[in-house]
Amino acid sequence: MERLTDKFGRQISYLRLAVTDRCNLRCQYCMPARGIDIVDRKELLTYKEMYRITRVLSELGVNKVRLTGGEPFVRKDFVKFLEMLSFNDQLDEINITTNGALISKHISKLETLNIGTINLSIDSLNRENFAKITRRDVFDEVYKTLESLEESSLQLKLNVVVQSGVNTHELLDFVGLTKHKNFAVRFIEEMPFNGTGKRATKENWNYTKIIDHIETHYATIHPIKSHKSSTSKNFKVEGYQGSFGIIPAFTRTICGDCNRIRITATGLFKNCLFDEGVFNVRDFIRQGASNDDLKQLFLSIVKEKPENGFVAEANRKRNKNVSESMSTIGG
Ligand code: SAM
Ligand code: SF4
Repeated sequence: MERLTDKFGRQISYLRLAVTDRCNLRCQYCMPARGIDIVDRKELLTYKEMYRITRVLSELGVNKVRLTGGEPFVRKDFVKFLEMLSFNDQLDEINITTNGALISKHISKLETLNIGTINLSIDSLNRENFAKITRRDVFDEVYKTLESLEESSLQLKLNVVVQSGVNTHELLDFVGLTKHKNFAVRFIEEMPFNGTGKRATKENWNYTKIIDHIETHYATIHPIKSHKSSTSKNFKVEGYQGSFGIIPAFTRTICGDCNRIRITATGLFKNCLFDEGVFNVRDFIRQGASNDDLKQLFLSIVKEKPENGFVAEANRKRNKNVSESMSTIGG
């Protein structure tokens, strides 16, 4: 089997696919209060197109897919799409990133499908602070989802975007949760992908500051072994059931082992989170490309994968500044 390999010898085995650009929340770090300019429905990839792209990529070595958005559960028939995707026997893992506000009624169905991990985004454990961050009053529903997922057979990870002065006083509470709860909490460095570029993103709550802060309160923290291509550096407080990790999304110290590509909801292929998109796969398909054409295309465009996120950012031509909303990129 021909495999997707970039010019640095990195094998690409992980696709992040945004199934929509729409969202039911308005997280301050992701988009402005009025939302973003969503695209016309016909500009979105259809489920059939997404299935086909995933199938072709899986025949080139992609064995792991993360479905994200926007909020994936906002899109009609998303669960049916998951069923469809479960038939792809080349995939070892189908994971989902969600804000959790719409999924509680789907959890038992998800348990019957080939779903690996659910990453649940929850940036505060306090109802008022949560509402301030997301601009929506859905904390109770999201926390209910958290508890249902914990009881389910699905693997759970929590995503917490670390926002200076907004939820940094809660980081220790999140670590505290892992005492009796067997899941992973991952702290994500905030990036400027917020749909306006107007929010000041300070690097001060970066990886080093986060771990230093946690270490001053917990004396016995041990690093735990992670996959080479893991997005987070992971730790455990001695005696705690769960673990916590830090994703250096903005300081980009993990790019060297990157095995990921992205496809946005409009079919834009991205070699890196920080690039502007290198090719529109949707247009190529709609112009009649065959599966072999798609294979040749993917094999050649991953060769252009930049060494790291700083190079990708420097290569941007249209919008020099990184300011598009994460909901259009697929975080
Ligand atoms: N709506 C889903 C959710 O929130 O989980 C999936 C899409 S969201 C864009 C994917 C992930 O990106 C979430 O965990 C979110 O917190 C994170 N994210 C969004 N904007 C970000 C930013 N500016 N910096 C860091 N992480 C961000
Ligand atoms: Fe929506 Fe997720 Fe962005 Fe929040 S982070 S606005 S939930 S897409």
